[in-house]
This record gives sequence, structure tokens and C-alpha cells, in this order.
Amino acid sequence: MQTQILERMESEVRTYSRSFPVVFTKAQNARLTDEDGREYIDFLAGAGTLNYGHNNPHIKQALLDYLSSDGIVHGLDFWTAAKRDYLETLENVILKPRGLEYKVHLPGPTGTNAVEAAIRLARVAKGRHNIVTFTNGFHGVTMGALATTGNRKFREATGGIPTQGAAFMPYDGYMGEGNDTLSYFEKLLGDNSSGLDRPAAVIVETVQGEGGINVAGLDWLKRLEQICRDHDILLIVDDIQAGCGRTGKFFSFEHAGITPDIVTNSKSLSAYGLPFAHVLMRPELDKWKPGQYNGTFRGFNLAFTTAAAAMRRYWSDDKFERDVQRKGRVVEDRFQKIAAWLTDQGVPASERGRGLMRGIDVGTGDIADKITAKAFENGLVIETSGQGGEVVKCLCPLTISDEDLIEGLDILEASTKQAIG
Ligand SMILES: *Cc1c(COP(=O)(O)O)cnc(C)c1O
Repeated sequence: MQTQILERMESEVRTYSRSFPVVFTKAQNARLTDEDGREYIDFLAGAGTLNYGHNNPHIKQALLDYLSSDGIVHGLDFWTAAKRDYLETLENVILKPRGLEYKVHLPGPTGTNAVEAAIRLARVAKGRHNIVTFTNGFHGVTMGALATTGNRKFREATGGIPTQGAAFMPYDGYMGEGNDTLSYFEKLLGDNSSGLDRPAAVIVETVQGEGGINVAGLDWLKRLEQICRDHDILLIVDDIQAGCGRTGKFFSFEHAGITPDIVTNSKSLSAYGLPFAHVLMRPELDKWKPGQYNGTFRGFNLAFTTAAAAMRRYWSDDKFERDVQRKGRVVEDRFQKIAAWLTDQGVPASERGRGLMRGIDVGTGDIADKITAKAFENGLVIETSGQGGEVVKCLCPLTISDEDLIEGLDILEASTKQAIG
């Protein structure tokens, strides 16, 4: 495989190609193919961007039909038929059946664009600067979003410019089991000399993706919503990774029965790996003045088309979400087995997650790296997350076949035994 030009010209900032140093050429659903014709099962799936698999044939057909009809591809924020169809589908298939009413802001096409827009909207709407975020949270790496991201690696890469406007609270479980982290937050809010500036909003992931598959309890999320209501704070759920079905419901917050004021989606929103993001907001929060927040790529018509096709195909009834939950249990059972085996070998490990967003915490990044490197040798693409990279995480396509799911889990189990045994 010819990799010289890739190594020579692409910036050192590259990451995933270090773990998976082959040249990929093709992909279909949960399988990637490299230039030598070798196949890999994909448990990374674009870090949760390919929930509907690579080149999903139903979604691809909608895209091809749109392209061959000379549909508008770029139109700034023009009204287009594709945009109208997207909004109609979002409202009728996703929002109304869930009793949700939101307006839609289309910012730039990446997750961090959506987070920037969401926190800025909260500040404009409330006239306050402070955003409360949580330990191990990941919300993107542009300056505003970075202020709400915990990871030191990203925070130190600003050339010394301080990030501003955010305060960190301990996430559920951060202080160990039985320690109620929201009581701490509530105490600070109620104390006029706690030093916590009154927040405009709280931003939270219901399951922290990059932060290590940390799962917020459903009661914890309900209580967080109540605290926000009691103190006139907006609740932003960053559903960029956990949304679009990953946890077994379209929105990850559905499990807790809460209604955020603002929601961010990106990653799997286009359903085809096309760059796309939106911010959902309660209608009365739409305090933007015309053109006050702009950008060249505001809503991508190809992504409107693919996103709407996926919503119609997978979310018109509850068949798909039940299937995701079933596959989630398959992964959970196997991860528990692998964690128990590791623990028996003197490597204390545990599994956690919700739906098909699952991980095995193996204690250290070194051990996790050994396992994922061995897995790649054996034909499985799988990554780590967590503050020290100690969690081996499964983000396989939700559409993965049962055969590929079992084969991927078999490879992971065998690779763990080879790496540790
Ligand atoms: C990936 C991610 C982001 C950032 O999205 P980008 O497209 O990489 O900017 C923000 N929040 C969460 C929860 C994410 O997983």
C-alpha cells in the first residue's frame, strides 16, 4: 500500500490513521475494505456518524435521485424544496410523535458549529454569559465550544488564549458511587457567595461519548432538568453523538422523559456521513435577529435529502428502535463476559453504556490500546475513549447484520485474550 504522500503531506494533527494505518477504498454497511482487498468490521463507524451504515442503499438511492434531477446542492440559506421536505419530515416523523415542539437553526455543518450556536443563543436569550458543563464533557474544539470541553489535550492547544464563559460541575458518578453530584451544583446555585456566576444554560451529554461512555442516570437527568427550571437556567442536551438512535431512541433524552430547551444534533443526522448539523430550540427562545449568526454552509441540501429519507425509512414506527435495543443487549452481554474474563486475569474491568453506545473500561489506556491494536490486526476497527483512553468503545452501525455483530464481538473477545493472556 502506497502511503508515502499521506505521511509526508498531511499534518501531524491526524489521528485515526495512526491507529488504522491502511488506505481504505470502499465500504458497505459495517464493512470497510482496504486497497489490498482486506475487509474489516467497523465498530467505530465514523465515531458515531454512520449509524445507518456505510453507503446505506435506501439512503443512497434518495441521494442519487436528487442529484440526477439537478436538485439544488448549494443555496446558502435559500428556501429549497429539499429544506421544506426535511423540516416537514422532522416535524411529522420525529418531533410530533414525541410531543416536542422546536424551531430549527441551521448553523455550519459540524457538531462544534451547532454547539457554538446553541450556547450563543442561550447567552442572547438569557443575557448571561456563564454556561455550566460537566467533567469529561466533549462538545467540540472551536473556542466557545472548547470552553465547555473538559479534555486538557484540546484545552491546551489554544496557544495560551484562555477559554472563557464556562464552569465545570461533576458529572453523574464522577465522585464515586452514592455521591450525589447534583446536590453540589444545587448548593452552589443557592449560595450568593459560592462564586458561581448565574448560568444562562447547562450543557450535558446523557451518555458521554468521547469522555468514556459515562452514563447519566435517568433520575439524575430528571433532577438536572428540575434544577434548571427552578433556577431559570436553559437545559441544552448535546445529542451529537448519543442522538439519532444510538442509545435506542431517536433522542437520547427520551429515556429520561425530559424536554431540553435546546438540542444539538450532527454526526449521524445526515444519515450518510455528509456534514450536517442543526440546533433545535423551544420556539420562544428564537431570539436571533435576521442574519445575526451566518455562514456559507447553512444547511446542506444533499443532507436534507438523506436525513429525511432515513427518518422516513427508520423512524416511522418503533421497529428500528426495538432492534437497536436488542442489539445493545447482545453487545452488553458479551462486554460483561469480556470484562469478567479480564477481571479474572487480574485486570479489573467493567462494562457500561446505553443502547448501542457501549464500552468496556479496562483501567488504563495502555491495556485498551493493546486490545484495539490486536483487534485491528484481526480485522476489527474499534477505538478507545475516556480521559486516559481506558475505555474500549463500540459504536457499530445500528444497521449492522447480526452475523457481522457476532463476528466483530468474537474478534474483540479473541483479541482481548491474545493481548492480555
Ligand atoms: C463529536 C462531538 C462534537 C463535535 O462535533 P464535530 O463535528 O467534531 O465538531 C460535539 N459534541 C459531541 C457530544 C460530540 O460527540
